[in-house]
Amino acid sequence: MTTANLYYLAIALLLLCTLACQPAQQTLAEQHTPTAHFIVIGIDGMSPDGINNAPTPNIDWMMQNGAYTLTARAVLPTSSSTNWASMLMAAGPEQHGVTSNNWERDDYVLPPVVTGTEDIFPTIFDAIRKQLPTAETGAIYHWDGFGRLFEKSAVNYDKHIDSEQGTTDEAGRYIKDKKPKFLFVHLDHVDGAGHGAGHGTPEYYQAVARADSLIGQIIQATKDAGIFDQTVFLVTSDHGGIGTGHGGETPDEILIPFILSGPGVKKGYKIPHPVYTYDNAATVAFALGIELPNACIGRPVKTAFEGYNLPDGETVVANEALAEPVIYPKREGHKAAGGLFIDSVPEVRIETMEKDGITYYTLDGNEPTETSTKYEAPFALSHTAVVKAKTYKNGVGSQSYIAYFRVADSKTKSGLKYSYYEGEGWMYLPSFKSFKPVRTGAAIEPSHDQVQGHREQTFAYVFQGFIKIDTLGEYRFYTNSDDGSKLFIGDELIVDNDGDHGTRERSGKVDLSPGLHPIRIEWFNGGGGYWLNCYYRGPGIPKQIIPADVLMPVKPL
Ligand SMILES: [Zn+2]
Repeated sequence: MTTANLYYLAIALLLLCTLACQPAQQTLAEQHTPTAHFIVIGIDGMSPDGINNAPTPNIDWMMQNGAYTLTARAVLPTSSSTNWASMLMAAGPEQHGVTSNNWERDDYVLPPVVTGTEDIFPTIFDAIRKQLPTAETGAIYHWDGFGRLFEKSAVNYDKHIDSEQGTTDEAGRYIKDKKPKFLFVHLDHVDGAGHGAGHGTPEYYQAVARADSLIGQIIQATKDAGIFDQTVFLVTSDHGGIGTGHGGETPDEILIPFILSGPGVKKGYKIPHPVYTYDNAATVAFALGIELPNACIGRPVKTAFEGYNLPDGETVVANEALAEPVIYPKREGHKAAGGLFIDSVPEVRIETMEKDGITYYTLDGNEPTETSTKYEAPFALSHTAVVKAKTYKNGVGSQSYIAYFRVADSKTKSGLKYSYYEGEGWMYLPSFKSFKPVRTGAAIEPSHDQVQGHREQTFAYVFQGFIKIDTLGEYRFYTNSDDGSKLFIGDELIVDNDGDHGTRERSGKVDLSPGLHPIRIEWFNGGGGYWLNCYYRGPGIPKQIIPADVLMPVKPL
């Protein structure tokens, strides 16, 4: 007997044993009729926001006639290779070792915990090949990097095509020609629009709408092939994005759609519990009636199928399954909600997005609970505040939504001085001592938003002045910048966020005594987009954009 046979014997024994011990759930599993055909359509970089804001009649149809969540989670880092691997392997980077886009089969840092037929963590293709040896399987993909993430020898049809339309046409031909048991189609153009025009832009939504029409063409191909009624579809994505990028840890980047439809799948069912991207292959395996190696961590999303419900009394409702409220002015991309109000009183308006939900808020940065102030009507703020709002329904809370309202008075001299510089070929912050500023001025906050009239590339700003500290203690400062930035208190470098990079946050801490402390922020843009926001937190001060009213350009006499 080979080890593989031993392995399946062990699984069979285990199944028998579990059947004997737990009849209810496992008998159902036994009864689940394997799906004849399963097609995963993965749209690179398609966020839930994209689906919510682009016309997507085919995806909408799948949601109305299927089971879905728009708040499934990808894995970190939110880069493509890591997430496609996790989907195919029913495991995370900790297991399969595809920890970044730089991963190659012969060049990695973390080896996979197990290998299958080839020198990678085994994928769903490998499991199908071993357990359903005659099954027809295919992988047709728009991004060539996808092709290194599965066993070439386990797939009947393996094709990379350089355009979204070509990939879809090829998938259609293949479906009609071979009626595959399992097919994975990957489309890349939405990610391209995210990197080019930016997530949340009209161009991005246009790309999502196009993806939807291509999904429609793939569905149509199964109808033409006469297998539509026997095919389960799963539409998902590897990650979302923010600004013109992804890879980070924000909800905008990590939340993904997970939408199933087809025979045996519930209709119009919003999956209430958490779903992870590595549940993808486990769900395919469950639907096809095969097993995955125990090195996998993904679990099938059984509740998506008829006959499977959450156990009674189980409260695994995900916070993300409840729509979070929105505070206006709302956040957009990297721009935080709230805003800077000079000589004016902001009105805080909160919208509850969850039907029958009740929204509570706080003004001190604390997490809202059902004992916090209930939101009933817009209210005015006369001072700087961190507003946090959270919607509750049946005792379950949504994620909280944060807005930073900064209130400043132009008569009191708040804000910082700035010096503006121009240079050539900067990859790091220049040494400003050897440069003469092109001009100087005043900015009420150290932010790209508060300086104008500069060129688009190779420019830099130095913001200087004083920060007022009321309470002795430890303070943490943050810069969120594209490209590099540094923040100094006195002569001490507190935040080193230097280098040529997209919008990213770095922080550092310092002990401060009450009084005025010199603060200096250096920031440059080499090329491409630019961004700067500075935050701090301290004793009794929740993390927030450093507000103008604690900054002053000169020490008062
Ligand atoms: Zn990308």
